Amino acid sequence: MNRQPHVAVIGAGAFGGWTALYLRRQGARVTLLDAWGPGNARASSGGETRVIRATYGPRAVYTRMAARALDLWKEHDRRWRTQLYRGIGVLWLVETDDAYERAALPILRDAKVAVAELTGAEVARRFPQIAGDGIRWAIFERDGGYLLARRACAAVLDGFRAEGGEYRQLAVHQPPAPRGGELTGVPLSDGTTLTADRFVFACGPWLGALFPDVIGERVRPTRQEVFFFGTPPGDRRYTEDAMPVWAHHGARFMYGIPGNEWRGFKVADDTRGPVFDPTHGERVATPEGVRTVRAYVGERFPGLKDAPLLEARVCQYEDSPDEHLIIDRHPAAANVWLVGGGSGHGFKHGPAVGELVARLVLTGEVPDAQFRLSRFTR
Ligand SMILES: Cc1cc2nc3c(=O)[nH]c(=O)nc-3n(C[C@H](O)[C@H](O)[C@H](O)COP(=O)(O)OP(=O)(O)OC[C@H]3O[C@@H](n4cnc5c(N)ncnc54)[C@H](O)[C@@H]3O)c2cc1C
Repeated sequence: MNRQPHVAVIGAGAFGGWTALYLRRQGARVTLLDAWGPGNARASSGGETRVIRATYGPRAVYTRMAARALDLWKEHDRRWRTQLYRGIGVLWLVETDDAYERAALPILRDAKVAVAELTGAEVARRFPQIAGDGIRWAIFERDGGYLLARRACAAVLDGFRAEGGEYRQLAVHQPPAPRGGELTGVPLSDGTTLTADRFVFACGPWLGALFPDVIGERVRPTRQEVFFFGTPPGDRRYTEDAMPVWAHHGARFMYGIPGNEWRGFKVADDTRGPVFDPTHGERVATPEGVRTVRAYVGERFPGLKDAPLLEARVCQYEDSPDEHLIIDRHPAAANVWLVGGGSGHGFKHGPAVGELVARLVLTGEVPDAQFRLSRFTR
């Protein structure tokens, strides 16, 4: 009988956690490690909420991946009797440059994603709390919404353990050193070495530092600020009962989530910030960031013009140069897989990425060319 391989997964964020779960489900012995814990305050998967949407401009691969992920999120909500997915819809507000949304529409329809096109007047009628100035039309994704992010990371860990996976809170201490075409073990922060047959490194914004030669600046952590504004007492206009997640392609790409487990009205600017050190960086929002977002909120949501800022967070994207995911074998070690480059949009795909990576690791299938490292050297 074939012995099932022992796979070590390093990183218990959206990508590593789901990968570990699917590897375990497919019969592997799996050890999952994380330096600080799943969805920790430094991880890109930390924070209460992340958007789930299938509108991806011309990038059909992510529309299909998001659709698959949505099915898996729903399946796990049923399996774990929880509600990590909140299907309140996503509204894409479009101004003059609508190339992204126009390109997305046929792909969304082809993938059977439930969408409606709304005119500017329809948006104003249905969502009077949003100022309609400049909004020509919108896509409304009915099954879009948001996910409870760090709660989901914890739920995935619970599910993984319940299915027989082993989790250890330890760090891989030094860049792994493959020899003779493979990696046999990695040194850990407690002075021991973890040996395994195969390794998956899903280290989010740390992936470049851990693999300086192979990944390096191909995963660039950028500093991103997120703000939570306070709504008037008892005012339901800015809660998820009255409005969906929204994304606004205007002069900047702004987006937000109402509700957020009662933390406030979340608003963020998707513009890439400066490079950020995810281990040592201080996470204090800048006065310019507060000013920009406050001015935006006052214009687009007039009822929140003088809303107090309740909280601000600093997180980081882990950007690849083309904002495509990275899913590939290490070029010098056939038993090592590198998974990352979520580039500000990875969280929703977690279950679909986990399902895919587990299959690749266990069958040796070759990943899609757009996820492979060779795209950077062509
Ligand atoms: C502000 C913000 C908003 C976002 N909004 C969205 C959104 O709305 N929708 C969406 O889909 N995506 C969104 N994203 C992107 C998404 O959150 C990320 O792409 C995704 O969470 C990345 O997951 P990951 O598992 O690759 O990384 P992480 O979550 O960072 O996980 C990596 C893990 O590896 C561990 N680790 C690192 N190095 C080591 C080591 N040496 N040893 C042991 N453990 C280690 C870390 O502790 C960490 O837990 C957003 C990101 C940010 C920052």
